[in-house]
Amino acid sequence: MIQCLMCSATFQGSNRFIDILLLKNTHSQVCEDCFQKFEKISDNHCPMCYKEATKDCLDCRYWQNQGKEVEHKSLFIYNQAMKEYFSRYKFQGDYLLRKVFSKVIRKELKNIKTMQLFPFQ
Ligand SMILES: [Zn+2]
Ligand SMILES: [Zn+2]
Repeated sequence: MIQCLMCSATFQGSNRFIDILLLKNTHSQVCEDCFQKFEKISDNHCPMCYKEATKDCLDCRYWQNQGKEVEHKSLFIYNQAMKEYFSRYKFQGDYLLRKVFSKVIRKELKNIKTMQLFPFQ
């Protein structure tokens, strides 16, 4: 049994090799209920700042006009669950919480590395 880092409920983690292989179990430190509260950013986002539901972002256009390029990458929307997560992470010093996203982030970094290694694919 694993104890959820967000709500402290205990849940059954998956140890099946196939799930680990397919990176299915990407949030083993939080229970399913808590993880579902985090909203992944959809494909419809600003290509530069990842703001949801906009391909033509006024903020980024403003910064571009100022001669500044916006380049950052987000994976999740800053919703209520994310706010709670950050307030725990920052103010309560619960460093275990970093594990909530470590696998998702590691997976994402692997994608970026692959893209840089094979830029013509
Ligand atoms: Zn939970
Ligand atoms: Zn933008």
